[in-house]
Amino acid sequence: MKVLVINAGSSSLKYQLLDTGNQEVLAKGLCERIGIDGKFTYKAPGKNTIDAVDVPMPTHSEAIQAVLNALVDQDNGVIASMKEIDAVGHRVVHGGETFANSVKIDEKVMAALEECIPLAPLHNPANITGIKACQAVMGPDVPQVAVFDTAFHQTMPPVAYTYALPYEYYEKDKVRRYGFHGTSHKYVAQRAAAMLGRPLEEVKLISCHLGNGSSVTAIDGGKSVDTSMGFTPLAGLPMGTRSGDLDAGILEYLMGKYSMDIREMLNVLNKKSGVLGVSGVSSDFRDLSKAGEEGNQRAALAVDMFNYGVKKYIGAYAAAMGGVDAIIFTAGVGENSPEQRMAIASGLEYMGVKMDAQANNTRGKETVISAADSRVKVLLIPTNEELMIALDTAALA
Ligand code: AMP
Repeated sequence: MKVLVINAGSSSLKYQLLDTGNQEVLAKGLCERIGIDGKFTYKAPGKNTIDAVDVPMPTHSEAIQAVLNALVDQDNGVIASMKEIDAVGHRVVHGGETFANSVKIDEKVMAALEECIPLAPLHNPANITGIKACQAVMGPDVPQVAVFDTAFHQTMPPVAYTYALPYEYYEKDKVRRYGFHGTSHKYVAQRAAAMLGRPLEEVKLISCHLGNGSSVTAIDGGKSVDTSMGFTPLAGLPMGTRSGDLDAGILEYLMGKYSMDIREMLNVLNKKSGVLGVSGVSSDFRDLSKAGEEGNQRAALAVDMFNYGVKKYIGAYAAAMGGVDAIIFTAGVGENSPEQRMAIASGLEYMGVKMDAQANNTRGKETVISAADSRVKVLLIPTNEELMIALDTAALA
């Protein structure tokens, strides 16, 4: 089946065309500056060039049209006609408590998606715009599927998702832990079971998705039972520019002292905090490692704080699940930084984690990076959210 995977942001749209049979990526690209002017960057495998062209994109519809034009282009295209696209899978950030699984989109689903907007006011409207643009350009006969960042975590028990707030905020306002990166955690969990050669239903996993945004998830028997992000993706670990967890009392103190309103405060917490805020150098872990090596102590502190935060979640989730069979590292940092993986996993020998320094000295490919006699396996697994979205879409379409 040929599935077009769409990840629509407010002014951007990423896409991949995948063949779910052999899991091959047929084409991929990116539309940017939608609503401003429009820039389209794409690459068809087999052709080694990356093409960047200016295409007017007043709305997401023109962006989708540009994608389809590129896919069927006589010289650089990969399909003869749009009819070869069997289905479209859309990444949707927030499915609230309504969606515990991916879903084929119809009018009722669209209405439910609109109801989730207050939970993700920045992301969900962009995702919905992408769906509507595809429907408009491709017509009603091509099945469209929504795949949610939150869905995988809907298996969490109340003890993990309830905040210690007046209970009516949960009942009336749906304030609870939702968790994000679900598609990634689900994908790497499936791969981990395959690598361990054991049924997913029988293993306890801790999945560390460490990138610009980061979250750690406890996965017991294939089900998410706890995760570090919360009501929004601001919670949990310190991230590239996000603070992660902090004492809410700090908000009142800083807002009063610097006459900030809540918008300005949230801008600080979302855009100016995390490892960028601590280091004053960069949100990019490569820059921080380099600066740290050159003697910048704040950059080194930022990386140490991040690694320490991940280690604490591993300890917490091993306790929560009553043990762990494997720890998974994925996403930008998890896949590419042997130093950070080692820093996080070292000191966990007491709980049966023993790294293999040589095996760990790799990046970007599925590898067992723990020692042969390590009771808890440590796995490097490149994430593939697009493939997961395509497989879910093919199954539903
Ligand atoms: P992601 O959000 O998954 O794309 O991850 C982005 C993060 O991965 C950035 O902070 C990058 O600096 C980090 N990253 C990518 N390559 C490396 C690397 N070789 N070493 C350390 N961090 C890396």
